[in-house]
Amino acid sequence: MNYFYKKNVVIIGGGPTGLGTALMLAKRGWKEIIVIEKRPAADYYEPDKSFNYQIDGRGQKLTDLLNLTDKLADLSVPNTDFYLTLIKPDGTRKVTKLPIVDPERKTAYWLPRASFVQLFYEEIQKKWQGSIQVLFNTNCHEIKVIEDQLKVIAQDQKNQQLIFTPTLLVGGDGLNSIVLQTLHETEEKSNSFVMQMFPSPSSGLRYKVLTLPPQFPLSEEENDITKSTMAYAIRSIFKEKKKAISLGLLPFKNPNQPRTANIITYPNHQIWQLKTSEEVKQFLKTAFPQIPLEKIISEEEIARFTKSEGGKFPIPQFCSRVYKIWGEPDINKGTAVILLGDAVHCFPPDIGQGVNSALEDVYILQEILEETKDNLSEAFPIYQNQR
Ligand SMILES: Cc1cc2nc3c(=O)[nH]c(=O)nc-3n(C[C@H](O)[C@H](O)[C@H](O)COP(=O)(O)OP(=O)(O)OC[C@H]3O[C@@H](n4cnc5c(N)ncnc54)[C@H](O)[C@@H]3O)c2cc1C
Repeated sequence: MNYFYKKNVVIIGGGPTGLGTALMLAKRGWKEIIVIEKRPAADYYEPDKSFNYQIDGRGQKLTDLLNLTDKLADLSVPNTDFYLTLIKPDGTRKVTKLPIVDPERKTAYWLPRASFVQLFYEEIQKKWQGSIQVLFNTNCHEIKVIEDQLKVIAQDQKNQQLIFTPTLLVGGDGLNSIVLQTLHETEEKSNSFVMQMFPSPSSGLRYKVLTLPPQFPLSEEENDITKSTMAYAIRSIFKEKKKAISLGLLPFKNPNQPRTANIITYPNHQIWQLKTSEEVKQFLKTAFPQIPLEKIISEEEIARFTKSEGGKFPIPQFCSRVYKIWGEPDINKGTAVILLGDAVHCFPPDIGQGVNSALEDVYILQEILEETKDNLSEAFPIYQNQR
């Protein structure tokens, strides 16, 4: 007899980990799953989080399980078709096919973060509305331990307070997770819920993203425009370390999607010292004489870019404990908490494994739930040992 409770779940975070976990649990027959997400929508456009994911074989274990890999492929540029145009400061161009694809490996797919998260959300809307409810514009601001259970306190956009007492609480809330912080606070004098840091050469790099029109001109010549499925690396005329920059554009399947150009440099680079829109405009114009910048970047976008804080590549980090159990959640008398994805391990984006390891977490958890027939007290220690 399966007497495990299998309902009353709260997931903090509606990114790839949170929505992926909700779908995985619903497919396993779990009910009453609430996802709390502070952003207004699954595909909400955040300029500085508008990067592309490359979903490889690791990540596709979950999309295969959810029967979503074909849809993923439809929305993406496959790595087998990844071409990069290098545009040098003198305007000369060189097209290369990248990377050297290992035919033994599964095709990997490039798509914008917003499209990937939307893919999961549409699946919830289509098939699992009876089991999963996603609360957008809702921020979890406190988690309290009350006897043998946890109370999750959130606020919606109308400033209404929402209180949940879940049997299963999932921390899918990314770097700076409130769930991880709460677990840390409940452990007196122990650092077992603290991230351990392993600095790498790219940690600390700063980045900002420029949003560009979908098909923008590369020169004054008619019809010399970018192709959405092509990646570009546009090199600046500056050579000195503190001035040289590059605009990096990853490919998109959708030809109408605005392009995003990543600017990634060390913190002492001159671009981070520029204070006004005019300074940024002049810097970019001098840096890239080979492209018609005035036709490409609007005044509004320069102003937004100038004001934006951008982000920093995080130090590779992980936390060795990933769960804690209060009471007996398997008979609905307690709360089991698990951390997945960036909430418990995160990498700088240059190795492109953040989302894949997050999706693999969800897949492995599903395998262990299958083995243990959804007994959380049995499953979570096995999961922690394996991951
Ligand atoms: C610039 C940059 C580029 C990257 N490029 C790549 C790449 O190319 N390939 C790759 O694999 N990975 C990349 N990553 C890493 C990747 O973004 C993460 O590994 C991945 O998004 C992890 O998914 P997640 O769902 O665990 O966390 P997140 O994607 O961070 O999602 C967490 C969600 O939780 C929500 N949330 C957080 N706190 C709360 C709260 N208190 N209440 C309600 N909601 C909350 C957030 O709004 C967010 O939607 C990149 C990261 C950065 C910063």
